[in-house]
Amino acid sequence: MTKALPQGSTIGILGGGQLGRMLSVAASRLGFKTHIFEPGANPPAAHVADTVTTAPYSDLNALKGFAKSVDVVTFEFENVPADALDAIESIRPVLPNRNALATSQDRIVEKDFLTGLGLKVAPYANVETADDLKTAVETVGAPSILKTRRFGYDGKGQSRLKTNDDAVNAWGELGETPSVLEGFIDFSHEVSVIGARSQSGEVVCFDPGENVHRDGILHTTTLPANLKSSQRMDAVILTGQILNALDYVGVMGVELFVTPTGLIVNEIAPRVHNSGHWTQNGCVIDQFEQHIRAVAGWPLGDGKRHSNVVMTNLIGDEVLDVEALSTDASVGLHLYGKAEAKAGRKMGHMNKLTGPAS
Ligand code: AMP
Repeated sequence: MTKALPQGSTIGILGGGQLGRMLSVAASRLGFKTHIFEPGANPPAAHVADTVTTAPYSDLNALKGFAKSVDVVTFEFENVPADALDAIESIRPVLPNRNALATSQDRIVEKDFLTGLGLKVAPYANVETADDLKTAVETVGAPSILKTRRFGYDGKGQSRLKTNDDAVNAWGELGETPSVLEGFIDFSHEVSVIGARSQSGEVVCFDPGENVHRDGILHTTTLPANLKSSQRMDAVILTGQILNALDYVGVMGVELFVTPTGLIVNEIAPRVHNSGHWTQNGCVIDQFEQHIRAVAGWPLGDGKRHSNVVMTNLIGDEVLDVEALSTDASVGLHLYGKAEAKAGRKMGHMNKLTGPAS
């Protein structure tokens, strides 16, 4: 695709969760229509989209019908099955490209790619069999984390090894699925960069945010992050390097561990990212608009931050504080319209502005 999509064009989005919902709102602000493809009934994005197809990703006819009705397809999650991509790509472009998806879907492929770029990752070893596990324990050792190669999120599909003796249990806990043993990094804190690349190869990064997790789920992202200017520069440059190497189009989240010997890449997410939600109130153009601009072939916004911000996820019952939160003039409230506030479910988030950008 070389020409910018005109207003009135339709953006297809695979996945109808909160990320699909916020992408849909951003698309609509730019005069686009959206069509959501989502297997589950009544997804959050359905409330703000023009069209919704409810079908599983194995329904290739439904995917083809969806593709024909849109001008370009993007996604809100990285585990889009390869067959589904084939069906869509025979009809319409999918952005970001499938190489980016394939790279981030598998932790070993991802780490090989990152180290190939000269970036630092945790020491790691591939574990596909009980024998691999023995070798991995000899090379990586403990403390370490065994993570499934695929389908992990919010700390799921992971088991920690305090000593080498924990290896066999961890392997059983993960169901003896192909995994990676990762050396435990003694980091001082975690940051992430939300970067974007346009179809013409222009790269724009938002300021790195500092992330705190609770029970394996992102709790807060704080801007500015506690980083020296050299570290901030490093974080942004390495994100640009990743985006360029993948010939990427769209927004990506890059999670980093901060250590005394430099930044270590934890993982990349080929999509808008929870740790980029602060941009909705901290920047004129947020990550969702930036992503829509990129996939629509538009120029990117400059991504400048105008305020200091703390983003806090509202998980489960926390969303019931809405009345109190909505009277605070410094808080931008973002609720996802989910019916049931189940424990551990992301129901919304708030961005508290804490002063002018510093
Ligand atoms: P992940 O699903 O890989 O993002 O891991 C979830 C969280 O577990 C991270 O945000 C870290 O807090 C922690 N973690 C993951 N990998 C490591 C590691 N190699 N060393 C130390 N902590 C880790």
